[in-house]
Amino acid sequence: MAAVVLSHLSKSFPGGIHAVDDLCLELGEHELLVLMGPSGCGKTTTLRLIAGLERPTGGRIVIDGRDVAGLPPRRRNVAMVFQHHALYPHLRVRDNLGFGLRLRGLPRREIAPRVEEAAAALAIADLLDRRPGQLSYGQQQRVALGRAMAGRPKLFLLDEPLSSLDAPLRRQLRQEIRRLHARLGVPMIYVTHDPAEALALGQRIALFRGGRLQQAADPQTLYDHPANCFAASICGSPGMNFFDSRVETADGRLTLVLAGNVAIVLPEACRDVVQPYAGRPITLGVRPEHLRLQAAKVASTQYPVPSTQYTVAIPATIEAVEQLGADTHVHLTTGGQAFMARIDGHIRPKEGERAIATAMPEQLRFFDTATEAAIPAALSVSM
Ligand code: ATP
Repeated sequence: MAAVVLSHLSKSFPGGIHAVDDLCLELGEHELLVLMGPSGCGKTTTLRLIAGLERPTGGRIVIDGRDVAGLPPRRRNVAMVFQHHALYPHLRVRDNLGFGLRLRGLPRREIAPRVEEAAAALAIADLLDRRPGQLSYGQQQRVALGRAMAGRPKLFLLDEPLSSLDAPLRRQLRQEIRRLHARLGVPMIYVTHDPAEALALGQRIALFRGGRLQQAADPQTLYDHPANCFAASICGSPGMNFFDSRVETADGRLTLVLAGNVAIVLPEACRDVVQPYAGRPITLGVRPEHLRLQAAKVASTQYPVPSTQYTVAIPATIEAVEQLGADTHVHLTTGGQAFMARIDGHIRPKEGERAIATAMPEQLRFFDTATEAAIPAALSVSM
């Protein structure tokens, strides 16, 4: 049974703001689901609806098989951890951890072992007698997680709990949250606007935009098979390159005409996907890390550049080169359109020179230019 089922869930605020719009999403019994998307896309509102802090304007929320409409937050057995934890400054860590349990009327003898257990799991056992003011921010966040854990909830909701921490501490705590989730086996929904964090943490990622779910998939699928241009652009660093183009067929060859009339011949392996768009616009997508650069052997006017059965070739000018240690980011243009290649940090192409950017056919993605939706057919490549 799913731990949480959201069916056609909607939340509008006065002024016509559709914070959450017809959301259908399930959370597995032991799943760690990440809600990801840019600021204002409805992530926090979704968590608040599940926790009972907001009332839906439409749809249903089922937690553990029970419709929770009308059930107040404290009766939902859900723990929420926020970016800015609200620890009680005058209470010791021990009492902060047990605070919710005392409110629920649990006897002391039951509270103490739960507090010890949460403290051990989060490596804060030696801090139990300190007050929040005597802790680092990371330690305070651990206490906030421990307090949620001590309540033994059916569901954890974490709203950007690490976003105030510096990068190394964030990475460390992210792994601790992963381990904690694996150990407790309690379902968890984790909100972040950071794609790298979402990919590193989530068993599944639900990507939002403007209150609407764009795609829910495991990290690899989201990266390899984004459902639309938005999903393709948000995952990856830098995001996918897009080329608006027109599909033409001449002499039996399938050609994409990009901006500035740059024509590139497509390998045969792309035919099934692209042929139905003949005479129509299509958007080609290719990730910066999938492009290789070769010195241009053809004059800049010699189009189309010959592709082989195994690669597609885009003639380009190298505009700028950024050396980032492990990687080199190369800023390129073709027919006036900018795009990026991410190549090995030891390769140093020269600015101002011409190059051929190549990619394998199976690394190309195609999108309907009008709807921005991925064109779904699989590529058949025998290599
Ligand atoms: P962030 O990453 O910045 O926290 P978010 O994805 O969590 O953003 P929400 O906080 O859920 O987004 O907000 C979604 C939309 O609803 C935004 O346009 C926001 O301004 C609006 N909104 C949220 N709460 C309210 C409210 N109480 N009243 C009016 N509008 C609201």
